[in-house]
Amino acid sequence: MVDFTIPEEIQMICRGLRSFLEKEVRPLEEQYKRYLEDERARLQDDGSLVPEFKSVLNHVRRRSADLGYYGMHMPPEVGGGGVSRVGMFYALREVFHHGLGLNVVVLSGPEGPSPMLLQFNEPQREKYLRPLVRGEMTTCFALTEPEAGSDIKNLKTRAEKKGDHYILNGMKTFITNAADADFAQVFAVTDPKTYKEHGYMGVTAFLVERDTPGYQVGKINRSLIDDGSQAELIFENCKIPKENVIGQEGMGFYVAMSWLGIGRLNIAAWSVGLAQYLLERCVEYANLRTAFGKPIGKYQHIRGMLAESAAELYAAEQMLLHASWKMDQGESVVDESSMAKWYATNMLYRMADRAVQIHGGMGVMKELPIERIFRFARILRIVEGTDEIQKETIAKSLEL
Ligand SMILES: Cc1cc2nc3c(=O)[nH]c(=O)nc-3n(C[C@H](O)[C@H](O)[C@H](O)COP(=O)(O)OP(=O)(O)OC[C@H]3O[C@@H](n4cnc5c(N)ncnc54)[C@H](O)[C@@H]3O)c2cc1C
Repeated sequence: MVDFTIPEEIQMICRGLRSFLEKEVRPLEEQYKRYLEDERARLQDDGSLVPEFKSVLNHVRRRSADLGYYGMHMPPEVGGGGVSRVGMFYALREVFHHGLGLNVVVLSGPEGPSPMLLQFNEPQREKYLRPLVRGEMTTCFALTEPEAGSDIKNLKTRAEKKGDHYILNGMKTFITNAADADFAQVFAVTDPKTYKEHGYMGVTAFLVERDTPGYQVGKINRSLIDDGSQAELIFENCKIPKENVIGQEGMGFYVAMSWLGIGRLNIAAWSVGLAQYLLERCVEYANLRTAFGKPIGKYQHIRGMLAESAAELYAAEQMLLHASWKMDQGESVVDESSMAKWYATNMLYRMADRAVQIHGGMGVMKELPIERIFRFARILRIVEGTDEIQKETIAKSLEL
């Protein structure tokens, strides 16, 4: 029998998150409205976030960690809550159902703990992983380079082994949280011959501390949503002790894949939460706004857009729920996570476009959160593998 009942412990987590968002996060959003409504107000001249806004984000992150939410997807032995993927789907949906405010840091993203870091040995877990779960440190995942985005077989960053350490040289770009991370997870070619022959082997993941000589944050990348989050990282002759290898030498991509699969499901879950938020805003507006003597929700064109949105949202939810359940059974979800990421982000993008249309002129004005979600939705179709890369993965599973 297939049972779609949401388990009581997951319902409890969602109720707790809702209460935290309403009682603690929303008042802060009111207090710091100036930063949330105007992206220019939150950025300094170099594109980084103003310190006050950054400290509010840190406060929300730490408070969420104190309540046990921030790193709850991690296992209890590193301070997490051991919440299942199905549980995380509902939790992420709940958090993003709140919109795009300070809630974005309530559950950890690429700046926080990921299962990839379970590869750390015990002293590293104590020094880096547990503080990450507690929200006291942040990290970043540094894979992309100017000439290697989708094409991860073209990395130029190199780490050469010299006795008991490696010498790291290279550059990364578009790295989320690079400017603030206490340490970076950096992917570098350690065996150029194997890398050239196999493409996936010969790359090693390293833990690189921010204060390592030769570690430099480059320019901040300005994006469509100007959240001051992405930046370049430059490594010049950084000396990395061999203990800082994450997982096995030469197997960095396999380590990375453990992160990307979950990252794709997370982004799909954000999309479902945001889509739910948009649908509710649209229905409210369609009932409220009148044109030619009646609410616009009575017009067939508007009703059609809303009906399509509701059906697509339902489809994305079910896909994601099934992929999450499958992952909880220990099964591979490489294809399903690509399908869910591609479908859910495109569903959100279509819905955000309709939301702008339904709100008319107000849809593109900064007074409402709609236009920002529209811009954010566009970005989600690029990160963690573009639409085309997801479709390539799906096509491969069809044995084309
Ligand atoms: C907001 C943001 C945050 C990011 N955060 C991080 C991060 O924290 N860490 C990190 O390492 N990276 C990060 N990235 C980088 C991101 O992963 C890459 O931008 C993404 O993988 C695409 O790579 P690219 O930009 O080089 O585009 P390209 O790979 O150059 O792609 C250009 C176009 O070609 C298409 N294309 C490429 N190859 C194929 C193919 N085989 N078949 C069909 N079409 C193809 C792409 O789909 C795309 O349409 C971030 C990017 C953004 C925008």
